[in-house]
Amino acid sequence: MKFGDFDLYVLRESTFRLDGGAMFGVVPKTMWAKTADCDEANRVLLACNLLLIDTGSKKVLVETGMGDRWSDKERARYDLKTLAAPPMVPAQLGLKPEDIDFVIISHLHFDHAGGATIEKEGKIVPTYPNAKYVVQKGEWDFSFKANARARASYRPDDYVPLEESGQILFVDGDHEVCPGVHVRITGGHTSHHQVVYLESKGEKAVYFADILPTKSHLSPPWVMGYDHYPLASCDEKSKWLVDCARDNYLVIFDHEPGVPWGRVKSSAAGKFEFEPLPAESLALPSGAAVQSA
Ligand SMILES: [Zn+2]
Repeated sequence: MKFGDFDLYVLRESTFRLDGGAMFGVVPKTMWAKTADCDEANRVLLACNLLLIDTGSKKVLVETGMGDRWSDKERARYDLKTLAAPPMVPAQLGLKPEDIDFVIISHLHFDHAGGATIEKEGKIVPTYPNAKYVVQKGEWDFSFKANARARASYRPDDYVPLEESGQILFVDGDHEVCPGVHVRITGGHTSHHQVVYLESKGEKAVYFADILPTKSHLSPPWVMGYDHYPLASCDEKSKWLVDCARDNYLVIFDHEPGVPWGRVKSSAAGKFEFEPLPAESLALPSGAAVQSA
């Protein structure tokens, strides 16, 4: 879709399932089950929605998805379905991995950094050979000293090769990646989690990453059990949603399995409502539709 001077595309990399209780934290199932379907193993359907921003002069990929280095056992655990293996993600737009200038990773959990690297001739190398990968330094450092609860979400093979090839652009807090494309630190999900804020010709957008992963997480207290700092997630989400409703931001959800972008309206009593864009807004120039779950 057109967004100011930019073109934006949602590229759906995979679908997977995670435990509903973990996805909704302290919210009881009697409440979350009204908005998110679950299977017989209590797992809710999620997607990895990558965002491709074409600014006219730069091509920026937001997130890299799960990637395809998964055993059959792990695929079964997450009901992981790869829709586009890492090198084929930009091919949906007729682009090659070499064409990507920046890759922004909100945080280094495996469902965000998994596609950052690929195995080539027995070696793990960056998927996007000419890109700078934008990572918060605090997130990077934390991933190597995470304790037993946090460690399971990090797989160093996803990102260590990026440093070895000199492709990491470490940032420390808010940063403008290229004109109109910003990362903003939020914390919450992890201590240095970042969202992507876009501005072009007066239009504004936010890619919330994991502080607001699906439309079912719109209510500020509905934060994930996975969050390291759930109260911070709630506060950050509230603050952003007020701005989104006031200035009619385009909002984009990283794990929403339905239409993952739209607008937010505020109603009485501090509540927010999501209005998705029509499904046709997801159509790709090739005529291929974004695969719906
Ligand atoms: Zn995630």
